[in-house]
Parts: sequence; C-alpha cells; structure tokens
Amino acid sequence: MKDIYTLSDLQNWSDATAGEQPPLRLAVCGDPVAHSASPPMHNAALEHCKIDARYCRLHIRANELEAALRLLSRENFIGTNITLPHKAAALSLMDEVDEHARKIGVVNTVVVSKESRDASGESRGKLIGFNTDGPGFVRAIRAEFGVDVRDLRVMILGAGGGAGRAIATQCVIENCERLVLVNRTLEKAQALAVELSPMLKKPRLFGPVPPLEAVAWENEMLARALQNIDLVVNATPIGMSKSPNEIQPRTSPLPASILRPHLMVFDTIYTAPRTSFMLAADEAGARSANGASMLLFQGALAFEIWFGREAPLDVMRDALRKNGIS
Ligand code: NAP
Repeated sequence: MKDIYTLSDLQNWSDATAGEQPPLRLAVCGDPVAHSASPPMHNAALEHCKIDARYCRLHIRANELEAALRLLSRENFIGTNITLPHKAAALSLMDEVDEHARKIGVVNTVVVSKESRDASGESRGKLIGFNTDGPGFVRAIRAEFGVDVRDLRVMILGAGGGAGRAIATQCVIENCERLVLVNRTLEKAQALAVELSPMLKKPRLFGPVPPLEAVAWENEMLARALQNIDLVVNATPIGMSKSPNEIQPRTSPLPASILRPHLMVFDTIYTAPRTSFMLAADEAGARSANGASMLLFQGALAFEIWFGREAPLDVMRDALRKNGIS
C-alpha cells in the first residue's frame, strides 16, 4: 500500500491498487493528509475485527473533492473520513446528511450506501454524511479532565474552521455554561454566534458575561475573556508539526502570559505528545491535553457508523501509541 494516493490513482483505482489484499475500501481525504494518523488506527481495528478491507490516505485538493467523492462511490468504498480543509465543502456534496451533522454543518465521516442509480442514470453508492468530531470531543474532555462539557465555560480558537464549528455546535447541543468563539477572520465567528444563538437553551447560571459571544483575536481582549472561561480549545492548525514529536517552536496560539492556572487547555493537534500550546499551559501552571483522545473517539464513532458494531478502542489506542500519537 502506498503512503498517499491521489485523484489520478482514484481515476485508475483497479490499476493503482492491483494485488492489494485486503482491498483498500476506506480512506481519509485531505490536503495536507500525510500527517493523518487515521490509517494505522483504523487498519489495526479492521485487522482485529477480521474485516476484509484496508484504510488509506487520499491527497485531494479543494477543486478535486467532488470528483474524488463520486469516484469513491463508484469504486465500492465502504466510506471515507474528511479532514482539513474539506469538512464544510463536503456537506453540500452528500446525497443525504444525518441530522446531527446537518445541525453541525460539517461532515467528517461518509458512508457509501449500497449501489443504486442516481438522477443521471449513473450506477453508484449514495454518499451519506455524518459528524463524529463533536461527540468525539465531548468524550475526550471527559477522559482527559474528568468533567462534562455541559458544566464548562468554553473558549474555542479557530471557531470558523471545520473542527471549531463542530466543537462549538456540540458545546451548544450539550448546553455548556458559556461559549466564546474566536477566529482569525472575526466575521466567521460572529456569523456562527448568530447561527447558534437560537439553539441556546436557558442558562443554568446567570452572570455578568453573555452565554454566547464572538471575540476578536486580540490578546488583551482574550485575556479579559479568559477570566470567565474553564476550557480553552485550539481548533486551528497553529503548532501542527509534520511528524510526531516535532514541536513547532514559539507557535502556541496563545502566549503563556495570558493563560491562567485555573484553565484546562485542550489542543486538537495530536502530532506531538506535548504541543506548543501545552508547553504554554505548563508555563502558566494550567492542565492540558493534546488531540490524541479526540482522534481516538471520533475514529471509534466512525468505525461504529461504518460497521454497526463496537470499535476495539484498546486496539486503536495501541496503534496510535505505536505511531507516536499519545
Ligand atoms: P479548517 O477547516 O481548515 O479550519 C482552520 C481554522 O484555523 C480556521 O478557523 C482558520 O481561521 C484557522 N487558522 C488557520 N491558520 C491560522 C493562523 N495562522 N492563525 C489563526 N488562525 C488560523 O481545518 P480543520 O479541519 O477545522 O482543522 C483544524 C485543526 O483541528 C487541525 O490542526 C486538525 O489537525 C485539528 N483536528 C483534530 C481532530 C482530532 O481528532 N484531534 C479532529 C479534527 C481536526 P480562518 O477562518 O480565519 O481561516
């Protein structure tokens, strides 16, 4: 199996994968995609469960996504994961979208249903979109910090991206205590706040700060907002390294000087056991975790959607550890 396949491989899939056993019938589509740890995690689960399929990486550019998804649905794939930067674009390319994913507005897991004919008479499987990032995040926070998102005041950095949007919407679904949306392009965070506000249930606690707001990415304003926050989440690629254990120096999304010891710091990045954001948290005396547990739980939920059976969590966790992800 090659490390990375491309659209042109997909266009000649039987030649590109001739002799591959078990056949490649699951993938992650992204750009970049080389960093993705999903293949070893899912391949360990598939082997453990004696499922006759393997999972590969597909390097797909934004202008190739539609063609790639159509090819997957013709080539007998079971499904695919979608990673950055395609999660929002994938939603409109689905034949059906699960209600939870529609609420979140972002797709990270696709099921290819049994073959049928589409409106143009083409024979291909239907693409059904799901989102497991939001529920995976909730499980990760419980596992890492022993708390429920519903009891927390949360700040999300990168709320305008696919993962940030999924996490923000999940926080509202959980009825968290307070949600602060931060994004480099402030308009996207503001638009999301407007979109999420009708879903907001009555606050359980009334306080001096609004339960939902968008705040500009400006350190002085963030320092003030952090006084009323318990959990701060990095959902941007800032600090992401190309290989496990490589830390990007001085690339923490927030400086240690504005973090406080009461905070829980969660970095969705999993390419290093101690990311730059976590090192900044250490300096401020705050607890922190990287995104390995979110990767594990979102992956386990995707496995359950594809196969309708419980995912072998310990096997998947071990596979991640063996690949330097913990
Ligand atoms: P995406 O859709 O491309 O969104 C990227 C977000 O990051 C946007 O909000 C963007 O802001 C912001 N951003 C990018 N570069 C920035 C910079 N230099 N300064 C400030 N903000 C910047 O990507 P995604 O799919 O959401 O992924 C984002 C991160 O989440 C990645 O690191 C990915 O590995 C991680 N993730 C982890 C898991 C997990 O299971 N652990 C799951 C999903 C994602 P603008 O809107 O201004 O462009």
